[in-house]
Amino acid sequence: MNLLVINCGSSSIKAEIIESISGKRALSLKVERLEDNPQIIYDGEEQPIPCPGRSFKEILEKTIRSLAEHAKNITISGVGHRVVHGGEDFDGPVMIDAAVEQKIEELSALAPLHNPLNLMGIQVAKQFYPDIPHIAIFDTAFHQTLSKRAQVYAIDKKVAERNGIRRYGFHGTSHEFVANQAARFLKSETRSLRLITCHLGNGCSMTAVEYGRSIETSMGMTPLEGLVMGTRVGDIDPGILIHLLKKEGWSADELDTFLNKESGLKGLSGIGNDMRDIIERASEGDADCRLALNVFSHQVRKYIGAYATVMGGVDAIIFTGGIGENSAVVRHRVCQRLDFLGAVLDEDKNRDIKLTDDIKVEEFSSDYSRVKLLAVATDEQLAIARSSAKLILEMDKVNIDLSIPIAISARHVHLTQETVEQLFGEGYQLTEYKPLSQPGQFACNEKVTIVGPKNQIERVRILGPTRPKDQVEISRTDEFFLGIDAPIRQSGHTENSPGCTLIGPKGKAILKEGVICAWRHIHMTPEDAERFQVADKDIVDVEVKSNGRSLTFGNVMIRVSPKYKLEMHIDTDEGNAAELSSGAEGTLVSTEGEAMLKKKNVHFVS
Ligand code: ADP
Repeated sequence: MNLLVINCGSSSIKAEIIESISGKRALSLKVERLEDNPQIIYDGEEQPIPCPGRSFKEILEKTIRSLAEHAKNITISGVGHRVVHGGEDFDGPVMIDAAVEQKIEELSALAPLHNPLNLMGIQVAKQFYPDIPHIAIFDTAFHQTLSKRAQVYAIDKKVAERNGIRRYGFHGTSHEFVANQAARFLKSETRSLRLITCHLGNGCSMTAVEYGRSIETSMGMTPLEGLVMGTRVGDIDPGILIHLLKKEGWSADELDTFLNKESGLKGLSGIGNDMRDIIERASEGDADCRLALNVFSHQVRKYIGAYATVMGGVDAIIFTGGIGENSAVVRHRVCQRLDFLGAVLDEDKNRDIKLTDDIKVEEFSSDYSRVKLLAVATDEQLAIARSSAKLILEMDKVNIDLSIPIAISARHVHLTQETVEQLFGEGYQLTEYKPLSQPGQFACNEKVTIVGPKNQIERVRILGPTRPKDQVEISRTDEFFLGIDAPIRQSGHTENSPGCTLIGPKGKAILKEGVICAWRHIHMTPEDAERFQVADKDIVDVEVKSNGRSLTFGNVMIRVSPKYKLEMHIDTDEGNAAELSSGAEGTLVSTEGEAMLKKKNVHFVS
């Protein structure tokens, strides 16, 4: 799926058409120097295209017009927009409608430099691409999982609430992306790992990603807090701001410029914000540049210690962003003396790291380091393309009927012909009472008694036709009553299960094995499997709602065969727990899509 990804910032406009699975760029452009003589630079084209305009909006319109012209032969399925501030409202990607646009506008109060431009990007792109979905991806969304104690500032609650003051965190798309990349590299999953992600670019931030969730992050209500950045100050004693306002007589705007544009590496080094220049000058002996480098690295180290403590340990520390990916010097300084944490850097590996289009993750910890040290290439544009594509697919799914009829199976037995004859007499053939929903299967007129060590259950129906193995399917309650400890198994898998005695009108049969509690399962055809996007033996969750109360059955196995009819089978105990009767339906909530489907109110239909 080709997605157009638009990122409107105050100093540049970036737009790319990205194939969401491979990450291949069909087209890539950048507009820089917005304030003086802006030019559109297409990747792979030497000649920049002048793009003069009196306002940001005019430049943007010219840019998107030029892009639409360049891309007229490419089918674009949707547009993903980077939006910096999602406030309290957005914890994931959303389809942009009028209400979402309004919310983004309202949130401009919290991000005056970013949200208005992001919104303009959305509105202009909609003019050119009115008929495809537009999706907003928020920098703050990944951090919505911060606990209250990590969110709040220690100020009067009413003042905080009135002004929306709390930690939101930023760079979420990048932190989430590199955490996932690292987990894949480590052949694990983020939900099994405690990670510290260090995004060190022009803007810098760190996140503690505990078992897949952001639980601490260094940027705050605005992107000004935390690490030392290119031109932003990072952590500072708020008393200094009061002091400056009083002593320098600065206005709020002047203070804003000082803290956002004149501080950080630029303020400390006196030569600008480019880390490459600072490292070079530091190596030549420039004291200010040395100090800038030291303060920068020291701050990152300090946060690593803090985040490892907050998580009670760490499995991997990840470096990304222009500095994190490229600077062996910074990685080295940050990782010095982290041995006490179990993180030991390998000098050679660190020096040799070269991330490329083909190598996107490299490890630079020593072989005996318990904590892995990784450099990971971030790709926020690709992350936006993928999240957008996923949402588009989920929306399509929502329009599909996802309900599954539920059948409650009462206790029953399947028998071999040999056992039938032991119970009903030689040459006896089972007779059909009524057909079952699965083609070819039927309930029989014949019934048997199941005898366990404690009790017996009479009149248990036999299901036909006969099978190669005896199998007795009972519920948990039946197990306790009979005194048999039966395992949960798929039908047909009776090996090493307990046995029982069956009594029929003409004799009894002693089964050595065959008593099971059926693994809850869904029968479906290959066409259903395609529609639900599941495969044979997948394990899914199914939500059922009855009398307004919902219950999710986890660990439900998918069984696919052209012979099957779509139906979920649960036993009587489970049906009782959910207060269900036959004829009820459930909704598949695959583990991945659960949150997404819930959000869209796709629920059980009864
Ligand atoms: P942005 O946050 O604007 O996306 P980047 O992630 O591209 O910025 O990071 C820009 C920073 O990365 C600059 O400070 C630049 O000097 C630094 N950088 C890029 N390459 C190197 C390098 N080889 N060594 C040190 N710093 C580097």
